[in-house]
Formats: sequence, structure tokens, C-alpha cells
Amino acid sequence: MSEPVIEPQRRRIKEMKILVLNCGSSSLKYQLIDMDNESVLAKGLCERIGIDGSKLTHKPTGKDEYVVEKPMKDHQVAVELVMDALQDAEHGVIQSTDEISAIGHRVLHGGTVYSDSIVVNDDVKRVIREFFDLGPLHNPANLIGIEASEAAMPGKKNVAVFDTAFGMSMPEKAYMYAIPTEYYEKYSIRRYGFHGTSHKFVSGEAIKFGGLDPENAKVIVCHLGNGASISASIGGKCVDTSMGLTPLEGLIMGTRSGDVDPAVVQFICNHENKDVNEVLNILNKKSGILGMSGGVSSDFRDVEKAGKEGNHLAEVALEAFRYRVIKYIGAYVAVMNGVDAIAFTAGVGENDIQARKLICDALGYLGVKIDDEANNVRGKETVISTADSKVKVMLIPTNEELAIARETLALVK
Ligand code: AMP
Repeated sequence: MSEPVIEPQRRRIKEMKILVLNCGSSSLKYQLIDMDNESVLAKGLCERIGIDGSKLTHKPTGKDEYVVEKPMKDHQVAVELVMDALQDAEHGVIQSTDEISAIGHRVLHGGTVYSDSIVVNDDVKRVIREFFDLGPLHNPANLIGIEASEAAMPGKKNVAVFDTAFGMSMPEKAYMYAIPTEYYEKYSIRRYGFHGTSHKFVSGEAIKFGGLDPENAKVIVCHLGNGASISASIGGKCVDTSMGLTPLEGLIMGTRSGDVDPAVVQFICNHENKDVNEVLNILNKKSGILGMSGGVSSDFRDVEKAGKEGNHLAEVALEAFRYRVIKYIGAYVAVMNGVDAIAFTAGVGENDIQARKLICDALGYLGVKIDDEANNVRGKETVISTADSKVKVMLIPTNEELAIARETLALVK
């Protein structure tokens, strides 16, 4: 009998390098990850796609940064430049695209259809298109990224990893808005939640790192960055999360208001002679700590600095930000009838020692006790509560690219 032939596709899968693409309307972020040891081989960013002054910044691990300034009329040109950079004789990290097993794409909105990641086919692309309405800035760019990747690497599997997938396990009582049901039936208007890839990753890591029961652990994840959201999960399944139909609901963020009485929109429209879209733009882009601080900045570090220098509005903005986190934690403990662990992640959650301390100090009623020495840490998986704290509090750095790569590998293996 002759030797079994290893098909080229199977040989490639053994290499297990996954390319992660995250396409915005005029940008493309990428990482090439070696899944044998989950190390980043290279990462980078294409900026100003479709605009003058397009630029690719390629960072191969262990080599010098490489900048390519070339026109990128669309995402397909950007993907092709990324492939060239990855294979570049001097700055590259692979010999050929044959070494890439599959491509994982961050996709914002899977609507009511996808509660998990999925290998892309025509149906998946149709659904991503159907939900352009719900993710008007991201879904079109995500689809363009998928199609560009299909064109640049024909025959490779592309996997869509949805930011809304984690929230799909919420029960009806948590995801239905108290508005006439016809709007859910006609337009799928409900709460979805975003940052799902991060919440799923961080809650999973918290369970592992904290040595919690994977089936039953009650975990609250505080994803506190420029975009901020909070989730409650039991056994790794989301039971509630703070963002809603769009990322506008919930916590106070860098530029987003989070929860407001919808009548505020009507009031501003009437008094400022603006239309709904203009006011929604204000709530998304000019509110949050930027708006509350009287325009100091959307960056938490700037607002903290202004607060320390005596800017009262800046101080109030940060207090209000923490207050809402504390309020949501209380609500989520109530709906889960307890909590085993609270995990902090993202820019503020991973780096702002004082914010973590002030939030946790307000949770004394839960038996939360913070170890100040352990909390004096940034960006590293750490238990920051004391041994006798009734709730384990942790810092768990998020890694959405790795989470996307893991989901992709699981589907193409
Ligand atoms: P992200 O959106 O997750 O990248 O988070 C960005 C936010 O994290 C920015 O507003 C930063 O100001 C904030 N951030 C980063 N480092 C610190 C720090 N050391 N203290 C306070 N905020 C920080």
C-alpha cells in the first residue's frame, strides 16, 4: 500500500498561525499569532484607508518597526500590503501565506442570529449585511475586511467572531426593552451588549486564574476603557451586560453618556433646534467624562490630572464614572444572588490603581477587601483582594486578539 498523502491544507493547519483582522471604517488592525505558544509574531495598523496619507505601521516581534506610506484606496489594498509586510524579506515573519492556517475577524454585530463564532460562508456574509443597520459604522467595514481577506488569500477559512455573541445568552427579562413588542418583532430591537469577546475571555481567565468552579462561578467583569461596559456571568454564560442595542447604554465612558433618560434627547432637540441624529452624536462623541469635565478630555489620565489640579468638574466626572460602576456591580450581585469574583480589565481597569481601590472600597458590604500592596500593579494577571476577602477581586488583562485567534483555531482545527 502507498503512503498516505498529507494534503497541503492539513499540513498548513499543523502550522497553526492565525491572522486576526479588526477592520474599522478607515483602519485595519492585525496580529499574526503562533497558536503553538500563543505568541504574537507581528502586529500592526493600517490607517487612513480610502483617505489621503494612508500608512501601514508593521511591528514584527523582535525586529524594528516598519512603516509603509502608500495609497490604500480600499481595505483590499490594505490587506495586500499587510500580506506583503508579513512576508517581507527584512521585516517579515513568514515565508509565504501558506503558513497562515486561517483568518479570524472581529465582527461587531451578529444580530439575533449568531451566539457563537462561525466559519464565514455566503449566509454569514448575508447576515452581517442584514445587520448593517444595527452596526452602521462597523459591520460594513467588517464585511469589507472579510471579502478583502478572501480575495487576498483564496481558499483560506475566515471566521467571524461577533462582539455581540456573548450577550446572546441573556434571558429575555434582561434583554427585552419595556417598549411595545412590535419593535422587537419588526426590527430586532433588544439589548445585545458589546465587548463580548473581551467579557468572555476575561470571565474565562478569571475562573481559571481564580481557581473557581467553571460550571457555577458568578463573575462580574468590569471592562473599563475609553469604551466601558460591565457584565454578569454564571459559569461563563452572560446573564446581563450593560451595553444595549448599541454601545451607548450603561456606564459612563470616555465620550459616551451611558444611561440617560431618553426624554433628554427630545428636550435638547426642541431647545437647541437639533435633530435626533445630532443629539445622538453628542451622546456618543461629546459626552461621558469628556462632556462632564467641561471638555477637558476623553482620556482618563488627563481628567485625573485636571481633578488633582482642582478642576471640580473633572473630579465630579470621575466620581460619577466610579459611582455608576459601583451601582451596576450592586445590581448584578442582586440579580445573580451573589458573586464569587470581580475582574477589572481594559485601559482604566488594568492601569488605574486608585480607581480600582475606590470602587472596591465601596463594596465593603459584600465582604470585599483589597490588598493595597497586591493592587499596586498594572497590566498583569493578579488577585488584588486579601486572602480573607469574601469575593475574589482580580486584575485580568484583556486580549481580544488572542480570544479571536482561539475561537478561530477551535473552528478550523
Ligand atoms: P482602552 O480603551 O481600553 O484602551 O483604555 C483607554 C483608557 O485607559 C484611556 O482613557 C486612558 O486614559 C486609560 N488609562 C490608561 N492608563 C491609565 C492609567 N495609568 N491611569 C488611568 N487611566 C489610564
